[in-house]
Parts: sequence; structure tokens; C-alpha cells
Amino acid sequence: GQEVLVDGRVGDVILCPDEEARAAFRVREEEDSRRRLLFDACKGGAARTRDGFPVRVNINSGDQESIDAFDAASCDGIGLFRTEFLYMGQNDYPSEDFQFSSYRSMAEKNQGRELIIRTLDIGGDKQLDYMSLPREANPFLGYRAIRLCLDREEVFKTQLRAILRASAFGQVKIMFPMIVNLEELLRARELLTQAMAELDQRGEAYNRDIPVGIMIETPAAVLLSDVLAQHVDFFSIGSNDLIQYTTASDRMNEKVQHLYDSCNLSVLRAVRLVCDNARARGVDVGICGETASEPSLIPLWCAMGVNELSVAPALVGRTKYVINQTSKASMELEMQTLLAQGSIPAVRERLDQILQELGL
Ligand code: PEP
Ligand code: MG
Repeated sequence: GQEVLVDGRVGDVILCPDEEARAAFRVREEEDSRRRLLFDACKGGAARTRDGFPVRVNINSGDQESIDAFDAASCDGIGLFRTEFLYMGQNDYPSEDFQFSSYRSMAEKNQGRELIIRTLDIGGDKQLDYMSLPREANPFLGYRAIRLCLDREEVFKTQLRAILRASAFGQVKIMFPMIVNLEELLRARELLTQAMAELDQRGEAYNRDIPVGIMIETPAAVLLSDVLAQHVDFFSIGSNDLIQYTTASDRMNEKVQHLYDSCNLSVLRAVRLVCDNARARGVDVGICGETASEPSLIPLWCAMGVNELSVAPALVGRTKYVINQTSKASMELEMQTLLAQGSIPAVRERLDQILQELGL
């Protein structure tokens, strides 16, 4: 029977609030509604910084519910289509046709906007009985994602054929997760070529020039991004894993959450390096981890020249709003100072200050 006030945005809980606390909450609520109107107004339009640098704002998707609820007009496209859900809740590998119908329906719903389909990223924290995956002491460093796919070629090629067939119905792109060296990327591309030849034999339609990209989720991929950029059309920085592997702190382990920090300077410098290498090679670069929508970091992503941010559907408006308020040129100057230091609290403090200056 106790009254409880919860502000989920900042993680505040107040038990048995007095009148003063209630009044303060009402102010927050009004403020929140006012902002929501501003954010909603940005959703449908293209986002660009005040000095004209465009940033696409896509959404992350990857379950049946989000496909059913998907409204193409509410974003610029789909920046990360996680395909694991098709392999879950099954007793065996999903067939090519089963996958194709899901990819195709998403491509059609997306009405010509980009749809980046990530190939299977299973293993690590996600396990499935029928795959008979070995028990591992360090699953996040083990047999997962592209490693598993390159080992189980038929499973991988089945998925590639399904994605390729869907590319006849929209602007579909393929993305490989967890790359750590050039050989993996080249092998994955070889298998993609084989999948194309198999479809040719069957006379199936697909986009022969389908754009191919990789996720940058490991320090290895960051440091090799100048080389990798020569073999892809785009990068998408998977910051959830990149933070984990850069700071050597398990993203699922509460005990080390204080180390798992998007503002660790090593992470920010890694993102900048990837952006620099991508730009030098004319490769499009996006971010699809949770940090893509962290308000105080968005101005920094603009300064680094990120072309695309892929965020949770509810955060598209807010993300676009922050981009629209940002001046890329002045953030570039800020960035030089920010990334030259080592203190996480100092960086956070300055980024929060900048956000306030932008009216947030
Ligand atoms: C990431 O690692 O940032 C990412 C988007 O992939 P996932 O969260 O599915 O590992
Ligand atoms: Mg990942």
C-alpha cells in the first residue's frame, strides 16, 4: 500500500514521497512530455548536424514481435537485424525457405530502405541444444558467431542463400559478426560467392552486388580496420562487444560493470581509429551497440564522422534530435581535447555539459 515514485530514465526510486518530492516529479514528468514532443517531431525527417553532415538513424531488430510492429516510416532503415531468433525455439537448424520468408517479409516492410542482416551470432551467451556446442571455460572467447559459421559451412551457406534471395525484394546488405582477422572475412566472402553460384544453378533471383560489411567488435578488428576496409562496403561497430573485449570485462557480469564503460578512453579512441580508417577508404561506418543512442556520446559520434547509428526503436526521435542540435565542426575541436585525456569522469562531465548546452 505504499506509494512509490519511479523515474526509470535515471534509475530513481522514492518510497513514500512527501508533497515536495511529488511536486518535483510532476515537473520532471512535464519536462519529459515536452521533450518527447520535440523528439517525435524529428522521427520522420532526415537527421543532419547543424553544419550539414547527414547521419542515418536506423533501428535494431531481431524478434518476431519487433518485425510485426515495424513501421518503416519511423526510422531510416534497419541497421542490425539479429537473426538468432530464427534459430531459437526450434529443434533443428531453420531451413533456407523458412529464413528466406522472414528476411523477405522484413525487406518488403522496409520499403526500399536499407536492411542490414547479420549472419548467425550464436555461441557465447546464446546456446542451442541441437547445435551440440561444446561446454567452454570462456564462451565469449570461444566457438561462436563467424567462427562457428566458418566451421559449419552448410549451415552458413543455407543462411547466405536465404539472405541473397531476400535481396531481390529490397535494399538488403549482409554483415558478418566477430571478425578478428582478414582470413575469416575472405573465407566468408568465398562462401558467399559459392552461395551465389548455387542460386545461379537454380535460376533464383538475387542482387549480385549486395553490399557486404563486418561488425567491428574486437580490438583485433579495430587495429586491422585499415586492411579490412579494403574488402568491405561498410563497417558497423558493435560497441556492446567492443567495450567488453577492449576493457576485458564481461558484459554480463555485474561485478565488473564499473569497468565496462563506454567512456573508457581506449573505447573512444578505438571508435575514432575505425572511423578514420573507414573514411580513408570510402567505407561507410555505423554503430549498432547500445552506445549508439547514448545522448552525451552522439555529438562525439558526429565529430568522428559516423554515417549511421542503429538504435532501439523507441530512441530514434531522441537520437535524431541530438544530431540535429550538434555542430560537427565545433565538436571536432572538443574531441581533440577530450580524447587526449585519460580520465573517464572528466570526459563524462564535459560530454554532459555539452549536452546541456544543446538544451538537453
Ligand atoms: C554489439 O556487440 O554491439 C552488438 C550489437 O551485437 P550483440 O549485442 O548482438 O552482441
Ligand atoms: Mg556483438
